[in-house]
Amino acid sequence: KGIKIAIDGPAAAGKSTIAKMAAEKLGYTYIDTGAMYRALTYKALVRNIDINDGDYLGELLQQTEILLVPLQERQAVIMDGVDVSEAIRSQNVTTNVSTVATHTAVRQLMVEKQRKLSEGTGVVMDGRDIGIAVLPDAELKIFMTASVEERAKRRHIENSKRGISTSLTQLKAEISERDRIDSEREVSPLRRAGDAVLIDTTLMTIEEVAKKISELAEE
Ligand code: C5P
Repeated sequence: KGIKIAIDGPAAAGKSTIAKMAAEKLGYTYIDTGAMYRALTYKALVRNIDINDGDYLGELLQQTEILLVPLQERQAVIMDGVDVSEAIRSQNVTTNVSTVATHTAVRQLMVEKQRKLSEGTGVVMDGRDIGIAVLPDAELKIFMTASVEERAKRRHIENSKRGISTSLTQLKAEISERDRIDSEREVSPLRRAGDAVLIDTTLMTIEEVAKKISELAEE
């Protein structure tokens, strides 16, 4: 079986890298909830749907199957039978996802899906509202942050490795804007749960963060 671990925090704080590592180490299921919001956003953009129409997006989500399939090295996101793992990381999706995620109809259904995915198994789930809304009973909650400069720098390096060239200034602006929308929305805004352990990773290596979390998980 195993426990539930919730990892929340602002954009590009290293949550998914760390969550994936921790899940692997513990033999748990990793659930990337951001990928689910991204998948819905991608579908809406492809179909030219108004991303401000929450009710319509909720209906769209109801007719959408999103599977997170563990593969070696990465997790594939399969939407309605199609592998959208790459497509959901596009600039267009990144720019629009936070607006899609503001809608109550969308969030209610996402939370339901995410809880279902976590039933009966040890999980590491990362997102924005996991410790407060999705898994309020999680045995371990982490709130992971880093300075916006550091987060933009990391994303910049990650992008160049994938052959994508981005300007640091532009990344910083995009990350800050996403954080702003995520913390100002009415439903489940980005907040640290009262019982979450705060980890500021600005001056830490991935290995140090991973070690800290496995220590906390063993307590
Ligand atoms: O984690 P990632 O950066 O891929 O998430 C993309 C966006 O999805 C976030 O900026 C946020 O707007 C939304 N999101 C959310 N709640 C979650 C996970 C992601 O609102 N649990």
